[in-house]
Amino acid sequence: MIVVKVGGSAGIDYDAVCADIAGRHQAGERLILVHGGSGETNRVAEALGHPPKFVTSPSGYTSRFTDRETLEIFEMVYCGKMNKGIVERLQRLGVNAVGLSGLDGRIFEGKHKDSVRAVENGKVKVLRGDHTGTVEKVNTGLIELLLSAGYLPVLTPPASSYEGVAINVDGDRAAAALAVALRAEVLLLLSNVPGLLRHYPDESSLIREIPADDVEHYLEFAQDRMKKKVLGAAEAVRGGVRRVIFGDARAGKPVSEALNGAGTVVS
Ligand code: ADP
Repeated sequence: MIVVKVGGSAGIDYDAVCADIAGRHQAGERLILVHGGSGETNRVAEALGHPPKFVTSPSGYTSRFTDRETLEIFEMVYCGKMNKGIVERLQRLGVNAVGLSGLDGRIFEGKHKDSVRAVENGKVKVLRGDHTGTVEKVNTGLIELLLSAGYLPVLTPPASSYEGVAINVDGDRAAAALAVALRAEVLLLLSNVPGLLRHYPDESSLIREIPADDVEHYLEFAQDRMKKKVLGAAEAVRGGVRRVIFGDARAGKPVSEALNGAGTVVS
């Protein structure tokens, strides 16, 4: 089993990702696709007059502050435009893909965090009304049902809180939790960079290998959102996933190239 997470930043070639996945699925490989949609969500939020608000925690992690209106815009883009765009691409390629959010069938569940600590102008503030959380539980039953019937699941945040409230969760860490729960051999985190760069944005500084027992040490090279990917990779290998790869989704055959050794390999 391979869990592929494709991000939502500018430059990602979804046609290339879907064509590669379709070929591998049709050759009999068991695959699940998880996707993001941050770039498009920012664009739509601006257009709707509710621009995105990012907050940085005291420990340096950046996340989207998700009030109710932001959550609804987030769902429009992730569960609507992005998810259906990917499902349509796969259907055109002859793959019977099924697009679901983590809310559907409670595939992804976690605790609802209503407040977030954020650093603003050098001061730590507590912001309330946030709809975020972290995936703590993956309900694999529905996924197994789909896979055994030959469908290709295409999954996206939000997740469900234990009370059934939609919560924004990090897609990389959700994909890591999914890979652990399904005992996947490989977790592929595809984005618009060649992998983890030692000196971002210098693409020639690609880190080729990271030892599985030393992933956290590499957090120092990751800025802003890349930190979540490194964290997700650490969680996946700790949970028994043997190989996590940070790969490039901008062109070519992103999944096959990563599996053949391109990108940053954590093992
Ligand atoms: P996606 O939405 O595609 O999953 P993110 O935007 O969340 O991707 O994270 C990938 C981004 O992280 C890259 O586009 C890059 O701007 C940024 N980044 C920060 N530090 C690094 C690094 N050391 N190596 C690679 N990318 C990095």
